[in-house]
Amino acid sequence: MDREQFRKAGYAAVDRICDYFENLESYDVVPKVQPGDIARLIADEAPQEGEPWENISKDFDRVILPGITHWQHPNFYAYFPANTTYECILADMYAGAVSNPGFNWLCSPACTELESKATDWVAKLHGLDDTWQNEGKVGGGVINGSASESCLTVCIAARERYLRLHPNTPFAELVIVATTQTHSLAAKAALILGIEFVAIETKEEDDWALRGDGLRTALEEIEGQGKKPFILIATLGSTSTGAVDKFGEITAVTADYPSLFLHIDAAWGGVFLSLPECHDETFLSAINARAPQSADDVGEGAICAGGEVHSISSNLHKSGLVTFDANCLWIRDRALLTSALDVTPPFLRTAQASAGLVTDYRNMSISLGRRFRSLKIWFALRSYGVTGFQKHLRQLISRAEVFERALLDADKGVPGVVLFTPRRFSLVVFRVVSLAAATPRSDTPDAVAARLERENALNASVVRHANEDSSLMLTPTTVGGKNCVRIAIGSPNTEDRHVLDLVEKIRRLVDRAREEVGD
Ligand code: PLP
Repeated sequence: MDREQFRKAGYAAVDRICDYFENLESYDVVPKVQPGDIARLIADEAPQEGEPWENISKDFDRVILPGITHWQHPNFYAYFPANTTYECILADMYAGAVSNPGFNWLCSPACTELESKATDWVAKLHGLDDTWQNEGKVGGGVINGSASESCLTVCIAARERYLRLHPNTPFAELVIVATTQTHSLAAKAALILGIEFVAIETKEEDDWALRGDGLRTALEEIEGQGKKPFILIATLGSTSTGAVDKFGEITAVTADYPSLFLHIDAAWGGVFLSLPECHDETFLSAINARAPQSADDVGEGAICAGGEVHSISSNLHKSGLVTFDANCLWIRDRALLTSALDVTPPFLRTAQASAGLVTDYRNMSISLGRRFRSLKIWFALRSYGVTGFQKHLRQLISRAEVFERALLDADKGVPGVVLFTPRRFSLVVFRVVSLAAATPRSDTPDAVAARLERENALNASVVRHANEDSSLMLTPTTVGGKNCVRIAIGSPNTEDRHVLDLVEKIRRLVDRAREEVGD
């Protein structure tokens, strides 16, 4: 393709993208394809001779779109959202034009300096104080592709920190600690690093959040077995129910465990830190609070004090208006990352880095080359502004409130549906319960187990049939042995009419489930 062909194809592509958004609602959310259907449409090898662009571009419609699950569709309620915006689509186009791996400052001063500024912007937007910002020269942010990557990265930093504090610790004694509600990213980091993983049980009466007393008991137990917990991965907004661990209670405990690094996975919930009205619910003041620092705790080769949050990461590519992928990771002391990850062979040395004048992001992340992700964050935040960003989040919460009210309305709601946990931001988790009347024998263990089994079958049926209907997509979860239904509202394209329509769909699905299960 030459430049003039690109110009024409580019204009046509933008038109095609606009048509896609204009007609979004005409697509099924979930494609009606079977495994292998799309692969059969794709040649087994690259063509020997190049093909005309016209043929290639047509195949986006013929081959790809029929196999796309439409995450931008207003009726997409599964997992957590993956927002996209026109600003970010354009940013990705520009980033593609300069195709720049930006691993050193010298490789691209703009990629590096914009990344530092963009993570500072987002830190400020999230209410993270200046100790988390690059501006302060000690803390700072880095953009990774995913929350999983950030979690693995801080596990490495935490391991090195622990080994600096306790130099001869055998690897086999090290333990990564999380909870049963932590995303699988923690177990996966442990798997990759070949380190034992322990998940602390959380409780229904705490809405599945980790509390101080549970943490203390678990740490005592782990240490009692001669193991060395070196990182705790807490969560702001768990995947199953949106649980927010009690960070203030947690840091009160970790103050007694100065070698324990504390990371918060705020992959989904992090963006809601941007709303002042959510600051209590997100425990922002506990996230920002600092423990008293000793002279050894900060600066080059730093270790940071116990009793404070050491790192936090937030996915702007979930509800944060930034096109996948864009995870911001902030750490209180960048030296914790660089001392663990800096490997500088001669060919990567630069005068600017040797003089300590610049950040080389390769030393704060796992890969060397990295995508130019800061551009889309910069474009999106400039175009929306803080006000527009907050308005978007408030709109998501408001839609979830509308849905919740209509679902549970005493007269017009769906009978026999109860919230499993209180709504968290824009996530509603509910459960269909049995309408069978209680009898004097209902609380025998056998009767309780039979009821649980019946209710689990009801909820499983609702999700199964919902997902057979390709006009919407939602995901189930099971917490504490109870099957539930999750409705994650996140698309900027979802309006009140969509969530009200969803209530009616759920009504029909629940009726069908009761018929199927005989309730
Ligand atoms: N953490 C939480 C709470 C999540 O819900 C998810 C994904 O939905 C992740 C982490 C994983 O995110 P990523 O795909 O960015 O690794």
